[in-house]
Amino acid sequence: MAGRFVLDCGYCGSRHEADYLGRLCAKCDGPLIVNTDLGALKAGRPSGSALRDPSLPGMWTYLPLLPIADRSAIVSLGEGNTPLLRASRLAAHLGIDTLYLKDETRNPTGSFKDRMLAVGIARAQELGKKTVAVQSSGNVAAAAAAYAAKAGLQAKIFVPRTAPEEKLVQILMYGADLCRIDHSSPTEIFDLLLWACGEFDWYLASTAAIFNPFTLEGAKTIAYEIAEQLAFELPDWLVVPVGGGGNIGTLWRGFTDLRELGLVTRLPRMVGVQAAGCAPFVEAVRLGRTPRQALTWRWPTIETIAGAIADDVVFDAHIALPAVRESHGTAVAVTDEESLAMEGMLAATEGIFVEPASATTLAALRRLLTDGQIRREDRVCCVLTGLGLKDMTSARKLVAPIETVPMSREAIRARVCRG
Ligand SMILES: [Zn+2]
Repeated sequence: MAGRFVLDCGYCGSRHEADYLGRLCAKCDGPLIVNTDLGALKAGRPSGSALRDPSLPGMWTYLPLLPIADRSAIVSLGEGNTPLLRASRLAAHLGIDTLYLKDETRNPTGSFKDRMLAVGIARAQELGKKTVAVQSSGNVAAAAAAYAAKAGLQAKIFVPRTAPEEKLVQILMYGADLCRIDHSSPTEIFDLLLWACGEFDWYLASTAAIFNPFTLEGAKTIAYEIAEQLAFELPDWLVVPVGGGGNIGTLWRGFTDLRELGLVTRLPRMVGVQAAGCAPFVEAVRLGRTPRQALTWRWPTIETIAGAIADDVVFDAHIALPAVRESHGTAVAVTDEESLAMEGMLAATEGIFVEPASATTLAALRRLLTDGQIRREDRVCCVLTGLGLKDMTSARKLVAPIETVPMSREAIRARVCRG
């Protein structure tokens, strides 16, 4: 497996071998990108099966495209292989013919981050690390805690003071060492965590490529699955929530892998969605910022309930901005009210309960349909990244107070008549 992938600098293009242990480019301190040797992969296998190692379960079936060399390092809780659901009732409400939902809430800890932390923890095991660390609003933290538990590693978790209580309890249940920091800026908490990792020799398993180019690679398997589930006829638009930018960037790289392997010809246009109260990526797209400019510009004050995507800096601008620009896509900011409305509509029409960050994709779709950028006949796929049970405070705003009905036939009759 040695030599199967390399690490390329996202700024200067310098190539580093797979055993390079630095976090950033040795030449210019730029962010690194894991690139699989697709040519060798394609030459070695018939194209249809190039993607898969059929002996492995779930997302690990894509091991030939993941940067893990040692199979014995793999830790799995059954992540990946999530359904791609045709959302006919919701589509009718929105006025679109074909809407698919990639339901990532089905992952073991309830979010798409499981795919990434499965890779991050496998990488930590390859390196012989005993303690992993992340900073996160909750989903990365829960995934890191669960996979560390499964692997028998220690997990050190830094969360901002704004993280929802449900997520904190989930993290603690997995036995992680939780540190709630009295601060709300992910950027500054990252700085503190970077210091701690150096000081105490913790392995930083971050899902931001700029902090760890390996972990994020697990997200590419979402793109591979969507392609296979649609028989390699990719949708016209792929709509994803954007926090630090790693998700949209990695999904796009997953699709370009498939094009390079000769498995698809047309790629989707990528739509990155943020909450209007924290939208540095949307600003970067609108103003034509370079990745370096985006990385050094911080959203001043975070004000949104979509905590899972409330990153004040586009940490992975080096892959996120190209995803929108190369695909001729767009970036959209939606209000919390729009997202909450779609969270309710999604649950009531399709039976899927997501957290606000995931509902932003549907709010953005509605907006793009209204202004004509997406047409009724376009095929659209929205990626639903996290489960609604992780943030009940937001969901409670959508439901009526729960009443208790007296234990009598009369009371039931009165209630039914009331409608
Ligand atoms: Zn460089």
